[in-house]
Amino acid sequence: MNIHDEGKEFQRDMTFFVDDQEIALHAVLREEQHFGDMVEFLRGSLGAFCRDQVAPRAASHDQDETFDEENFRALGELGFLAMAYPEAYGGLGVDFAYYNLGLESLAMADAGFALAVGIHGTACDGIRQFGSESLRERYLPSLISGEKQAAFCLSEAGSGSDAKAMSTCYRKDPETGDYLVRGAKYWITNGMTADVFFLLARDAEGGAVSAFVVEKGWEGGFEQVKIPDKMGVRGSNTAELVFDDYRIPAENLVGEEGRGFKYAMVMLNGGRATIASQAVGCARAAWTKLMVYAHERELFGAKLKDLDNTKKEISEAWVEIGASRLLTLQAALLKGEGGDFAAWAAAAKHRATEMAVRVSERAIQLTGGYGYVTESRIERHLRDALLYRIGEGANEALSIVVLPRFLYAEEEGADRVDPW
Ligand SMILES: Cc1cc2nc3c(=O)[nH]c(=O)nc-3n(C[C@H](O)[C@H](O)[C@H](O)COP(=O)(O)OP(=O)(O)OC[C@H]3O[C@@H](n4cnc5c(N)ncnc54)[C@H](O)[C@@H]3O)c2cc1C
Repeated sequence: MNIHDEGKEFQRDMTFFVDDQEIALHAVLREEQHFGDMVEFLRGSLGAFCRDQVAPRAASHDQDETFDEENFRALGELGFLAMAYPEAYGGLGVDFAYYNLGLESLAMADAGFALAVGIHGTACDGIRQFGSESLRERYLPSLISGEKQAAFCLSEAGSGSDAKAMSTCYRKDPETGDYLVRGAKYWITNGMTADVFFLLARDAEGGAVSAFVVEKGWEGGFEQVKIPDKMGVRGSNTAELVFDDYRIPAENLVGEEGRGFKYAMVMLNGGRATIASQAVGCARAAWTKLMVYAHERELFGAKLKDLDNTKKEISEAWVEIGASRLLTLQAALLKGEGGDFAAWAAAAKHRATEMAVRVSERAIQLTGGYGYVTESRIERHLRDALLYRIGEGANEALSIVVLPRFLYAEEEGADRVDPW
Protein backbone atom coordinates (compact mmCIF):
# COMPACT_ATOMS: atom_id res chain seq x y z
CA MET A 1 0.00 0.00 0.00
CA ASN A 2 1.32 3.41 -0.94
CA ILE A 3 0.11 5.57 1.92
CA HIS A 4 1.21 8.74 0.16
CA ASP A 5 -1.64 8.22 -2.29
CA GLU A 6 -4.04 5.92 -0.52
CA GLY A 7 -5.14 7.98 2.45
CA LYS A 8 -8.65 6.61 2.37
CA GLU A 9 -7.54 3.01 2.25
CA PHE A 10 -5.21 3.71 5.14
CA GLN A 11 -8.10 5.12 7.16
CA ARG A 12 -10.12 1.98 6.49
CA ASP A 13 -7.29 -0.14 7.81
CA MET A 14 -7.28 1.61 11.17
CA THR A 15 -8.87 -0.30 14.03
CA PHE A 16 -10.59 2.00 16.45
CA PHE A 17 -11.05 -0.37 19.38
CA VAL A 18 -7.96 -2.47 19.99
CA ASP A 19 -7.13 -5.38 22.29
CA ASP A 20 -4.98 -3.05 24.42
CA GLN A 21 -8.13 -1.11 25.33
CA GLU A 22 -10.03 -4.26 26.27
CA ILE A 23 -7.12 -5.49 28.39
CA ALA A 24 -6.94 -2.17 30.26
CA LEU A 25 -10.71 -2.16 30.77
CA HIS A 26 -10.49 -5.73 31.99
CA ALA A 27 -7.93 -4.69 34.59
CA VAL A 28 -10.36 -2.28 36.22
CA LEU A 29 -13.88 -3.52 35.37
CA ARG A 30 -13.76 -7.25 34.69
CA GLU A 31 -16.29 -8.08 37.42
CA GLU A 32 -18.72 -5.42 36.26
CA GLN A 33 -22.07 -6.79 35.06
CA HIS A 34 -22.10 -4.95 31.71
CA PHE A 35 -18.48 -5.71 30.82
CA GLY A 36 -19.11 -8.15 27.95
CA ASP A 37 -21.91 -6.12 26.35
CA MET A 38 -19.97 -2.88 26.62
CA VAL A 39 -16.80 -4.28 25.09
CA GLU A 40 -18.94 -5.60 22.24
CA PHE A 41 -20.53 -2.16 21.82
CA LEU A 42 -17.21 -0.30 21.91
CA ARG A 43 -15.47 -2.72 19.58
CA GLY A 44 -18.42 -3.34 17.25
CA SER A 45 -20.89 -0.46 16.93
CA LEU A 46 -18.66 2.40 18.04
CA GLY A 47 -15.58 1.00 16.28
CA ALA A 48 -17.50 0.72 13.00
CA PHE A 49 -18.94 4.22 13.45
CA CYS A 50 -15.45 5.66 13.95
CA ARG A 51 -14.11 3.77 10.93
CA ASP A 52 -16.97 4.39 8.51
CA GLN A 53 -18.43 7.74 9.58
CA VAL A 54 -15.92 9.77 11.56
CA ALA A 55 -12.39 9.01 10.29
CA PRO A 56 -13.14 9.40 6.57
CA ARG A 57 -14.44 12.94 7.15
CA ALA A 58 -11.76 14.08 9.61
CA ALA A 59 -9.34 15.54 7.06
CA SER A 60 -12.00 17.67 5.37
CA HIS A 61 -13.34 18.94 8.71
CA ASP A 62 -9.77 19.80 9.67
CA GLN A 63 -9.26 21.66 6.43
CA ASP A 64 -12.59 23.53 6.40
CA GLU A 65 -12.90 23.93 10.20
CA THR A 66 -16.39 22.41 10.31
CA PHE A 67 -18.21 20.45 12.98
CA ASP A 68 -20.11 17.36 11.84
CA GLU A 69 -23.64 17.86 13.19
CA GLU A 70 -24.92 14.84 11.27
CA ASN A 71 -22.38 12.56 12.96
CA PHE A 72 -23.21 14.08 16.34
CA ARG A 73 -26.87 13.13 15.93
CA ALA A 74 -25.89 9.67 14.64
CA LEU A 75 -23.66 9.16 17.68
CA GLY A 76 -26.66 9.99 19.84
CA GLU A 77 -28.80 7.48 17.97
CA LEU A 78 -26.10 4.89 18.56
CA GLY A 79 -26.59 5.40 22.31
CA PHE A 80 -23.03 6.58 23.01
CA LEU A 81 -23.98 9.94 24.55
CA ALA A 82 -26.44 8.26 26.91
CA MET A 83 -24.12 5.58 28.26
CA ALA A 84 -23.40 6.96 31.72
CA TYR A 85 -26.86 8.43 32.47
CA PRO A 86 -29.68 6.93 34.53
CA GLU A 87 -32.35 5.02 32.63
CA ALA A 88 -34.97 7.44 33.99
CA TYR A 89 -33.71 10.08 31.51
CA GLY A 90 -33.20 7.68 28.61
CA GLY A 91 -29.67 6.67 29.61
CA LEU A 92 -28.08 3.22 29.55
CA GLY A 93 -26.99 3.41 33.19
CA VAL A 94 -23.53 1.94 32.66
CA ASP A 95 -20.23 2.93 34.22
CA PHE A 96 -18.68 6.24 33.13
CA ALA A 97 -15.40 4.40 32.41
CA TYR A 98 -16.93 2.70 29.34
CA TYR A 99 -18.02 6.04 27.90
CA ASN A 100 -14.66 7.59 28.69
CA LEU A 101 -12.77 4.81 26.93
CA GLY A 102 -15.06 5.26 23.92
CA LEU A 103 -13.87 8.87 23.66
CA GLU A 104 -10.38 7.49 23.01
CA SER A 105 -11.66 5.76 19.87
CA LEU A 106 -13.52 8.87 18.72
CA ALA A 107 -10.43 11.04 19.22
CA MET A 108 -8.33 8.58 17.27
CA ALA A 109 -10.75 9.08 14.37
CA ASP A 110 -11.16 12.88 14.74
CA ALA A 111 -9.91 14.80 17.77
CA GLY A 112 -12.01 17.89 17.01
CA PHE A 113 -15.22 15.89 16.85
CA ALA A 114 -14.28 14.04 20.06
CA LEU A 115 -13.66 17.36 21.84
CA ALA A 116 -17.15 18.55 20.87
CA VAL A 117 -18.63 15.29 22.18
CA GLY A 118 -16.57 15.42 25.40
CA ILE A 119 -17.57 19.00 26.26
CA HIS A 120 -21.21 18.26 25.46
CA GLY A 121 -20.87 15.44 28.03
CA THR A 122 -19.34 17.76 30.63
CA ALA A 123 -22.27 20.18 30.32
CA CYS A 124 -24.86 17.35 30.50
CA ASP A 125 -23.07 15.86 33.50
CA GLY A 126 -23.39 19.22 35.29
CA ILE A 127 -27.16 19.16 34.79
CA ARG A 128 -27.27 15.54 36.02
CA GLN A 129 -25.16 16.22 39.11
CA PHE A 130 -26.38 19.64 40.20
CA GLY A 131 -29.63 20.45 38.38
CA SER A 132 -33.06 20.16 39.99
CA GLU A 133 -35.19 17.15 39.09
CA SER A 134 -37.27 19.36 36.82
CA LEU A 135 -34.15 20.63 34.94
CA ARG A 136 -32.94 17.05 34.51
CA GLU A 137 -36.29 15.92 33.16
CA ARG A 138 -36.55 18.89 30.83
CA TYR A 139 -33.08 18.81 29.35
CA LEU A 140 -31.33 15.46 29.71
CA PRO A 141 -33.49 13.24 27.44
CA SER A 142 -33.04 15.42 24.33
CA LEU A 143 -29.35 16.10 25.09
CA ILE A 144 -28.23 12.54 25.71
CA SER A 145 -30.11 11.28 22.66
CA GLY A 146 -28.11 13.71 20.50
CA GLU A 147 -31.23 15.58 19.40
CA LYS A 148 -29.80 18.69 21.07
CA GLN A 149 -26.27 19.80 21.88
CA ALA A 150 -24.81 21.45 24.97
CA ALA A 151 -21.89 23.78 25.73
CA PHE A 152 -19.99 24.51 28.96
CA CYS A 153 -19.47 28.27 29.41
CA LEU A 154 -16.88 29.19 32.04
CA SER A 155 -13.94 30.93 30.32
CA GLU A 156 -13.81 34.54 29.24
CA ALA A 157 -11.31 36.54 27.22
CA GLY A 158 -9.90 37.93 30.48
CA SER A 159 -10.23 34.85 32.69
CA GLY A 160 -9.15 31.32 31.81
CA SER A 161 -6.96 29.63 34.42
CA ASP A 162 -8.01 32.36 36.84
CA ALA A 163 -11.67 31.48 36.35
CA LYS A 164 -12.76 33.27 39.53
CA ALA A 165 -11.86 36.55 37.84
CA MET A 166 -14.86 36.24 35.50
CA SER A 167 -16.77 39.43 34.82
CA THR A 168 -20.01 38.08 33.32
CA CYS A 169 -22.61 38.96 35.91
CA TYR A 170 -26.31 38.75 36.64
CA ARG A 171 -28.88 40.72 38.57
CA LYS A 172 -32.22 39.50 39.78
CA ASP A 173 -35.51 40.93 38.53
CA PRO A 174 -37.23 41.66 41.89
CA GLU A 175 -40.69 41.17 40.38
CA THR A 176 -40.29 37.82 38.63
CA GLY A 177 -37.20 36.35 40.29
CA ASP A 178 -35.68 35.89 36.79
CA TYR A 179 -31.97 36.51 36.25
CA LEU A 180 -30.65 39.10 33.75
CA VAL A 181 -27.18 38.22 32.49
CA ARG A 182 -24.66 40.55 30.95
CA GLY A 183 -21.13 39.83 29.71
CA ALA A 184 -19.24 37.61 27.28
CA LYS A 185 -17.93 34.08 27.44
CA TYR A 186 -14.98 33.16 25.24
CA TRP A 187 -13.49 29.94 23.82
CA ILE A 188 -16.80 28.09 24.07
CA THR A 189 -16.65 24.73 22.31
CA ASN A 190 -19.97 23.97 20.53
CA GLY A 191 -20.78 27.65 20.99
CA MET A 192 -22.04 28.00 17.41
CA THR A 193 -24.20 24.88 17.30
CA ALA A 194 -25.34 24.20 20.87
CA ASP A 195 -28.98 24.52 21.91
CA VAL A 196 -28.32 24.48 25.66
CA PHE A 197 -25.60 26.36 27.57
CA PHE A 198 -24.33 25.56 31.06
CA LEU A 199 -23.43 29.12 32.07
CA LEU A 200 -21.42 30.48 34.99
CA ALA A 201 -21.91 34.10 36.03
CA ARG A 202 -21.35 36.15 39.17
CA ASP A 203 -23.84 38.10 41.23
CA ALA A 204 -23.38 41.80 40.32
CA GLU A 205 -23.76 42.73 43.98
CA GLY A 206 -22.40 39.89 46.10
CA GLY A 207 -19.88 38.51 43.63
CA ALA A 208 -20.60 34.81 44.27
CA VAL A 209 -20.78 32.64 41.14
CA SER A 210 -23.97 30.82 40.19
CA ALA A 211 -24.75 28.31 37.44
CA PHE A 212 -27.65 28.42 34.97
CA VAL A 213 -29.05 26.29 32.18
CA VAL A 214 -29.64 28.66 29.27
CA GLU A 215 -31.42 28.22 25.96
CA LYS A 216 -31.42 30.25 22.77
CA GLY A 217 -34.39 32.42 21.84
CA TRP A 218 -35.22 33.95 25.19
CA GLU A 219 -35.80 37.66 25.83
CA GLY A 220 -32.75 39.95 25.67
CA GLY A 221 -29.49 40.03 23.75
CA PHE A 222 -27.66 36.82 22.91
CA GLU A 223 -25.06 36.64 20.16
CA GLN A 224 -22.84 33.78 18.99
CA VAL A 225 -19.63 34.88 17.29
CA LYS A 226 -17.39 32.26 15.71
CA ILE A 227 -13.72 32.24 16.75
CA PRO A 228 -12.00 31.20 13.52
CA ASP A 229 -8.62 29.81 12.53
CA LYS A 230 -7.80 27.46 15.38
CA MET A 231 -4.53 25.60 15.06
CA GLY A 232 -6.03 22.21 15.91
CA VAL A 233 -9.23 20.42 17.00
CA ARG A 234 -10.70 22.10 13.94
CA GLY A 235 -13.55 19.59 13.71
CA SER A 236 -15.12 21.43 16.67
CA ASN A 237 -16.55 24.92 16.59
CA THR A 238 -15.51 27.56 19.12
CA ALA A 239 -17.37 30.78 19.88
CA GLU A 240 -17.67 33.94 21.88
CA LEU A 241 -21.12 34.21 23.47
CA VAL A 242 -22.32 37.73 24.24
CA PHE A 243 -25.19 38.24 26.71
CA ASP A 244 -26.91 41.60 27.03
CA ASP A 245 -29.57 41.57 29.75
CA TYR A 246 -30.48 38.09 28.65
CA ARG A 247 -33.41 36.87 30.73
CA ILE A 248 -33.03 33.47 32.40
CA PRO A 249 -36.16 32.09 34.11
CA ALA A 250 -35.76 31.66 37.87
CA GLU A 251 -36.25 27.89 37.62
CA ASN A 252 -33.16 27.60 35.37
CA LEU A 253 -30.80 28.33 38.23
CA VAL A 254 -28.71 25.18 38.81
CA GLY A 255 -28.63 24.00 42.42
CA GLU A 256 -28.12 26.71 45.00
CA GLU A 257 -27.38 30.33 44.20
CA GLY A 258 -23.72 31.15 44.89
CA ARG A 259 -22.51 27.53 44.57
CA GLY A 260 -21.79 27.63 40.83
CA PHE A 261 -18.02 27.87 41.08
CA LYS A 262 -17.89 24.70 43.15
CA TYR A 263 -20.09 22.92 40.57
CA ALA A 264 -17.85 24.09 37.72
CA MET A 265 -14.73 22.80 39.47
CA VAL A 266 -16.34 19.36 39.97
CA MET A 267 -17.38 19.34 36.31
CA LEU A 268 -13.82 20.20 35.27
CA ASN A 269 -12.57 17.11 37.12
CA GLY A 270 -14.81 14.97 34.91
CA GLY A 271 -13.71 17.02 31.90
CA ARG A 272 -10.08 16.22 32.69
CA ALA A 273 -10.80 12.49 32.57
CA THR A 274 -12.42 12.97 29.15
CA ILE A 275 -9.52 15.07 27.81
CA ALA A 276 -7.03 12.46 29.05
CA SER A 277 -8.86 9.79 27.10
CA GLN A 278 -8.95 11.95 23.99
CA ALA A 279 -5.21 12.55 24.33
CA VAL A 280 -4.62 8.80 24.42
CA GLY A 281 -6.70 8.42 21.23
CA CYS A 282 -4.83 11.22 19.50
CA ALA A 283 -1.46 9.68 20.40
CA ARG A 284 -2.64 6.27 19.23
CA ALA A 285 -3.60 7.71 15.84
CA ALA A 286 -0.12 9.23 15.40
CA TRP A 287 1.55 6.05 16.65
CA THR A 288 -0.49 3.81 14.31
CA LYS A 289 0.32 5.92 11.28
CA LEU A 290 4.00 5.89 12.24
CA MET A 291 3.85 2.11 12.60
CA VAL A 292 2.36 1.65 9.13
CA TYR A 293 4.80 4.05 7.51
CA ALA A 294 7.77 2.42 9.25
CA HIS A 295 6.74 -0.91 7.71
CA GLU A 296 6.54 0.64 4.23
CA ARG A 297 9.42 3.10 4.05
CA GLU A 298 12.76 1.82 2.82
CA LEU A 299 16.09 3.53 3.50
CA PHE A 300 19.67 2.29 3.54
CA GLY A 301 18.44 -0.95 2.00
CA ALA A 302 16.21 -1.74 4.98
CA LYS A 303 12.80 -0.86 6.34
CA LEU A 304 12.42 2.18 8.61
CA LYS A 305 10.95 -0.13 11.25
CA ASP A 306 14.22 -2.07 11.50
CA LEU A 307 16.37 0.89 12.52
CA ASP A 308 17.31 0.63 16.19
CA ASN A 309 16.03 4.11 16.95
CA THR A 310 12.65 3.37 15.35
CA LYS A 311 12.25 0.19 17.43
CA LYS A 312 13.09 2.12 20.59
CA GLU A 313 10.76 5.03 19.87
CA ILE A 314 7.84 2.85 18.77
CA SER A 315 8.19 0.69 21.90
CA GLU A 316 8.54 3.59 24.29
CA ALA A 317 5.54 5.36 22.78
CA TRP A 318 3.43 2.20 23.13
CA VAL A 319 4.41 1.95 26.82
CA GLU A 320 3.52 5.62 27.37
CA ILE A 321 0.16 5.26 25.64
CA GLY A 322 -0.72 2.20 27.73
CA ALA A 323 0.36 3.82 31.02
CA SER A 324 -1.68 6.95 30.27
CA ARG A 325 -4.72 4.86 29.40
CA LEU A 326 -4.55 3.00 32.73
CA LEU A 327 -4.22 6.21 34.72
CA THR A 328 -7.15 7.65 32.77
CA LEU A 329 -9.29 4.58 33.41
CA GLN A 330 -8.48 4.82 37.10
CA ALA A 331 -9.70 8.44 37.19
CA ALA A 332 -12.82 7.53 35.19
CA LEU A 333 -13.59 4.60 37.46
CA LEU A 334 -13.31 6.77 40.58
CA LYS A 335 -15.61 9.35 39.00
CA GLY A 336 -18.16 6.64 38.22
CA GLU A 337 -18.05 5.50 41.85
CA GLY A 338 -18.77 9.05 43.00
CA GLY A 339 -15.58 9.44 45.05
CA ASP A 340 -13.16 12.35 45.20
CA PHE A 341 -11.15 11.80 42.06
CA ALA A 342 -9.84 15.35 41.51
CA ALA A 343 -6.18 14.42 41.94
CA TRP A 344 -6.46 11.33 39.74
CA ALA A 345 -8.21 13.29 37.00
CA ALA A 346 -5.50 15.97 37.15
CA ALA A 347 -2.78 13.32 37.10
CA ALA A 348 -4.34 11.50 34.13
CA LYS A 349 -4.91 14.73 32.22
CA HIS A 350 -1.37 15.93 32.82
CA ARG A 351 0.28 12.63 31.97
CA ALA A 352 -1.83 11.78 28.91
CA THR A 353 -1.70 15.23 27.34
CA GLU A 354 2.07 15.66 27.71
CA MET A 355 2.38 12.16 26.28
CA ALA A 356 0.15 12.97 23.29
CA VAL A 357 2.29 15.99 22.37
CA ARG A 358 5.47 13.93 22.70
CA VAL A 359 4.21 10.94 20.71
CA SER A 360 2.69 12.99 17.89
CA GLU A 361 5.88 15.09 17.63
CA ARG A 362 8.01 11.93 17.48
CA ALA A 363 5.69 10.48 14.80
CA ILE A 364 6.42 13.52 12.62
CA GLN A 365 10.17 13.27 13.22
CA LEU A 366 10.29 9.58 12.41
CA THR A 367 8.22 9.89 9.25
CA GLY A 368 10.47 12.71 8.03
CA GLY A 369 9.28 15.02 5.28
CA TYR A 370 6.20 12.87 4.75
CA GLY A 371 4.99 13.45 8.31
CA TYR A 372 5.55 17.18 7.97
CA VAL A 373 2.92 17.70 5.25
CA THR A 374 -0.86 17.77 5.65
CA GLU A 375 -1.36 14.97 3.15
CA SER A 376 0.14 12.44 5.58
CA ARG A 377 -2.54 13.27 8.15
CA ILE A 378 0.09 12.89 10.85
CA GLU A 379 0.89 16.55 11.54
CA ARG A 380 -2.77 17.14 12.46
CA HIS A 381 -2.31 15.04 15.60
CA LEU A 382 0.36 17.37 16.99
CA ARG A 383 -1.82 20.41 16.30
CA ASP A 384 -4.70 18.68 18.08
CA ALA A 385 -2.60 17.47 21.02
CA LEU A 386 -1.32 20.96 21.83
CA LEU A 387 -4.86 22.01 22.81
CA TYR A 388 -5.15 19.22 25.38
CA ARG A 389 -2.31 20.68 27.45
CA ILE A 390 -4.13 24.05 27.66
CA GLY A 391 -7.83 23.17 28.00
CA GLU A 392 -9.64 21.93 31.14
CA GLY A 393 -6.90 23.43 33.32
CA ALA A 394 -3.47 24.22 31.86
CA ASN A 395 -0.98 21.52 32.84
CA GLU A 396 1.10 24.06 34.76
CA ALA A 397 -1.91 24.88 36.96
CA LEU A 398 -2.47 21.17 37.58
CA SER A 399 1.09 20.43 38.63
CA ILE A 400 1.68 23.68 40.53
CA VAL A 401 -1.71 24.12 42.21
CA VAL A 402 -4.06 21.10 42.03
CA LEU A 403 -1.71 18.16 42.61
CA PRO A 404 0.40 19.68 45.42
CA ARG A 405 -2.79 20.67 47.25
CA PHE A 406 -3.83 17.01 47.27
CA LEU A 407 -0.41 15.53 47.95
CA TYR A 408 0.46 17.92 50.78
CA ALA A 409 -2.95 17.38 52.41
CA GLU A 410 -2.33 13.63 52.28
CA GLU A 411 1.10 14.10 53.81
CA GLU A 412 -0.21 16.34 56.57
CA GLY A 413 -2.81 13.73 57.53
CA ALA A 414 -0.33 10.84 57.47
CA ASP A 415 1.26 9.19 60.49
CA ARG A 416 4.85 10.32 60.85
CA VAL A 417 7.32 7.58 60.06
CA ASP A 418 11.00 7.85 59.34
CA PRO A 419 11.30 6.84 55.66
CA TRP A 420 15.02 6.20 56.08
C1 LIG B 1 -9.96 25.34 21.41
C2 LIG B 1 -10.38 25.71 22.80
C3 LIG B 1 -11.58 25.24 23.31
C4 LIG B 1 -12.00 25.63 24.58
N1 LIG B 1 -13.24 25.23 25.04
C5 LIG B 1 -13.72 25.76 26.20
C6 LIG B 1 -15.07 25.50 26.62
O1 LIG B 1 -15.82 24.77 25.96
N2 LIG B 1 -15.52 26.10 27.75
C7 LIG B 1 -14.73 26.91 28.50
O2 LIG B 1 -15.20 27.42 29.52
N3 LIG B 1 -13.42 27.16 28.15
C8 LIG B 1 -12.91 26.61 27.02
N4 LIG B 1 -11.63 26.88 26.63
C9 LIG B 1 -10.79 27.75 27.46
C10 LIG B 1 -9.67 27.01 28.16
O3 LIG B 1 -10.20 26.31 29.25
C11 LIG B 1 -8.64 28.06 28.56
O4 LIG B 1 -7.96 28.43 27.38
C12 LIG B 1 -7.66 27.56 29.61
O5 LIG B 1 -8.30 27.42 30.85
C13 LIG B 1 -6.47 28.50 29.77
O6 LIG B 1 -6.91 29.80 29.96
P1 LIG B 1 -6.30 31.00 29.08
O7 LIG B 1 -6.34 30.58 27.66
O8 LIG B 1 -7.01 32.23 29.46
O9 LIG B 1 -4.81 31.06 29.51
P2 LIG B 1 -4.25 31.80 30.83
O10 LIG B 1 -5.14 31.54 31.97
O11 LIG B 1 -3.96 33.20 30.48
O12 LIG B 1 -2.91 31.01 31.05
C14 LIG B 1 -1.77 31.19 30.16
C15 LIG B 1 -0.71 30.19 30.56
O13 LIG B 1 -0.25 30.49 31.87
C16 LIG B 1 0.23 29.32 32.48
N5 LIG B 1 -0.44 29.12 33.78
C17 LIG B 1 -1.76 29.12 34.02
N6 LIG B 1 -2.01 28.90 35.32
C18 LIG B 1 -0.82 28.77 35.93
C19 LIG B 1 -0.40 28.53 37.28
N7 LIG B 1 -1.30 28.41 38.27
N8 LIG B 1 0.92 28.47 37.53
C20 LIG B 1 1.83 28.61 36.53
N9 LIG B 1 1.51 28.82 35.25
C21 LIG B 1 0.20 28.89 34.95
C22 LIG B 1 -0.08 28.16 31.51
O14 LIG B 1 1.06 27.87 30.75
C23 LIG B 1 -1.16 28.74 30.65
O15 LIG B 1 -1.24 28.11 29.40
C24 LIG B 1 -11.17 26.46 25.38
C25 LIG B 1 -9.94 26.89 24.87
C26 LIG B 1 -9.54 26.55 23.61
C27 LIG B 1 -8.23 27.08 23.08
